[in-house]
Amino acid sequence: MLIERRKELRKQKRHGFRKAGIMIRKAVEKLIGNQPMSKEDFLEILSGYGDRAWTELLREEAVKVRKRHYGLKVFTRGLIEFTNYCKNNCYYCGIRKGNSHAVRYRLTEEEILGCCEEGHRLGFRTFVLQGGEDPFYTDEKMVGIIRKIKETYPDCALTLSLGEKSYESYRLFREAGADRYLLRHETADEAHYRLLHPLSMSLAHRRQCLYDLKALGYQTGAGMMTGSPGQTMETLAEDLMFLQELQPEMAGVGPFIPHHDTCFAGEPAGSVELTLYLLSVIRLLLPRVLLPATTALGTLDPLGREKGLAAGANVVMPNLSPVRDRKKYELYDNKICTGEESAQCLECLERRIEAAGYEMVSERGDF
Ligand code: SAH
Repeated sequence: MLIERRKELRKQKRHGFRKAGIMIRKAVEKLIGNQPMSKEDFLEILSGYGDRAWTELLREEAVKVRKRHYGLKVFTRGLIEFTNYCKNNCYYCGIRKGNSHAVRYRLTEEEILGCCEEGHRLGFRTFVLQGGEDPFYTDEKMVGIIRKIKETYPDCALTLSLGEKSYESYRLFREAGADRYLLRHETADEAHYRLLHPLSMSLAHRRQCLYDLKALGYQTGAGMMTGSPGQTMETLAEDLMFLQELQPEMAGVGPFIPHHDTCFAGEPAGSVELTLYLLSVIRLLLPRVLLPATTALGTLDPLGREKGLAAGANVVMPNLSPVRDRKKYELYDNKICTGEESAQCLECLERRIEAAGYEMVSERGDF
């Protein structure tokens, strides 16, 4: 009697596995075929995480797609972290307003232009101005800085990453010459968003900002951390649904890394493997997307950025900020590349990227 029952159970289990296998196979085929995906499809795809065969298949297909659109090119973006003052209090972020231990700094217009000059000399043709949400830089000041950079370097693309602003501000920046804007949505799930941000912030506003940026003709970047506290496969499926809906030209996805002076100091860091898996999935979902192998990935794993490229990424963002201030832009603990001069940093990265079989290029690298 018992033996019979056990046999029956085993049969059911085998059937279950087979059925599960068919579902994921269908979802993977849809993703590779670039067909519209449902949330259930994404959940199937995510259920393949941890399975060597699915991971390998998605990685290979992602690399094929990147090659088709971009060859072996890796685009560089010179990152200028121009202020670490921030009026927000995102619970995961080291430069949040509530962190009284953060040593604050701001770059002057001259210092920002100095970073661009150095960057241009080194071959960068995209500058990214990133900072906390710092009211010191009024729209007028930003417009002045943007105009000056675009006047001096008309051959360069300018990316902004200044957080949430009004449509009007985004319009002014765009008219002044800004080409691109990075604003990670952080999570597309309401409850998860609440867990990561204070009540003064909202997912609805963040999403609205992204749609405003798109409407204004910015090449727009969204994205999320992997392994942020409270993240589940469900919330990740929501993130992928949102990326599919928004169709961003860029996507920033890197692991969460705890910062010692935040509410999440004791939380575990996100997983390198899951980040790589998501990079492959996103390359397949948005075939032409400009997808960085992030500094956070390189922080968690010494070969993180190379692995990111091997999973489907095609952008790196070396630091152009003055070495004096680099350590102060501390979003998370142990951030790499905070000690060397920009030139050294670039040289080291270029050597590594070329050794990994890619070609680091000096193009603007538009979408
Ligand atoms: N104020 C800008 C720039 C924020 S910093 C904005 O709101 O967009 C850039 C990105 O760093 C954030 O979007 C976030 O995803 C990431 N980040 C912040 N804290 C982090 C942490 N502890 N670990 C990993 N990434 C983090």
